[in-house]
Amino acid sequence: MSETAYTNLIGAHGLVWAGGWSPEEARYSIESTKRAGYDLIEILFMNPRGVDAALTRRLLDEYEVQASASLGLSLDTDVSSEDEERVKAGEAVLADALHVAEKVGLVYLGGVLFGALSKYAQPVTERGRANSIGAVRRFCDAAADSGITIGLEIVNRYESNLLNTARQAVEYVREVDRPNLVIHLDTYHMNIEEVDNYAAVLECGDLLGYVHIGESHRGYLGSGSVDFAGLFRGLGAIDYSGPITFESFSSKVVMPELSHTLAIWRDLWDDSMDLATQARSFIDAQLRAVASQRHH
Ligand code: MN
Repeated sequence: MSETAYTNLIGAHGLVWAGGWSPEEARYSIESTKRAGYDLIEILFMNPRGVDAALTRRLLDEYEVQASASLGLSLDTDVSSEDEERVKAGEAVLADALHVAEKVGLVYLGGVLFGALSKYAQPVTERGRANSIGAVRRFCDAAADSGITIGLEIVNRYESNLLNTARQAVEYVREVDRPNLVIHLDTYHMNIEEVDNYAAVLECGDLLGYVHIGESHRGYLGSGSVDFAGLFRGLGAIDYSGPITFESFSSKVVMPELSHTLAIWRDLWDDSMDLATQARSFIDAQLRAVASQRHH
């Protein structure tokens, strides 16, 4: 089969490499992403003001690596809250992230931007959901001015009380109704919430704009219980052409603001390069398998 069996950008999540984004960590992460055979790195914008945009741009150019960025809001900056102060605080964080994304020259910014990345003790209220939709709509409009696509990452029930499934995501995104808003699915979360990975991808269809490939325990791909074949067959069926980013976490590489929220307590791996090169081959094999069925 030819080298052009697929055209998706294949990405690696920043926490495969380093817990922060100091100049040394940024260079190491971008250089390693390239060396492991990836096209793109997903940079963590949990603290967007801590990202040196000019340096990041220079390093991406030096290594010819593309980038996306992601963040999750907190309960203090929850745009799905009924508390207008929290909504305002959340919109300020999103504006900061957008500003840095523009300075780096990114075209994609995503994550749990519609509410807090947190376990909630109660369901979302009608007013909270309306606040979330309003905030995301304003954010999309601001991002559209700089040609940036906004992605909403659909996460499991322990990390959001608002969007846990593809079906909820489609309904929500249709309500927001902005052309630069896409759905971001993640196999780790789908493995908990979806009935069928293939059906979930088809349900999103053209609204799907970003994909995270993660294992059920967030470690090595293929060593857990995720139905990757169903997911990749779905991507083939909708001719998905967007990025596919490998995401994995271990207590070996920690960013407290994110790792603790995601309950990363165990040491699933300790060799980032071995993990990443294995995942790169795994994704390649899945995409080639799907492509091989197109003409038979
Ligand atoms: Mn994810």
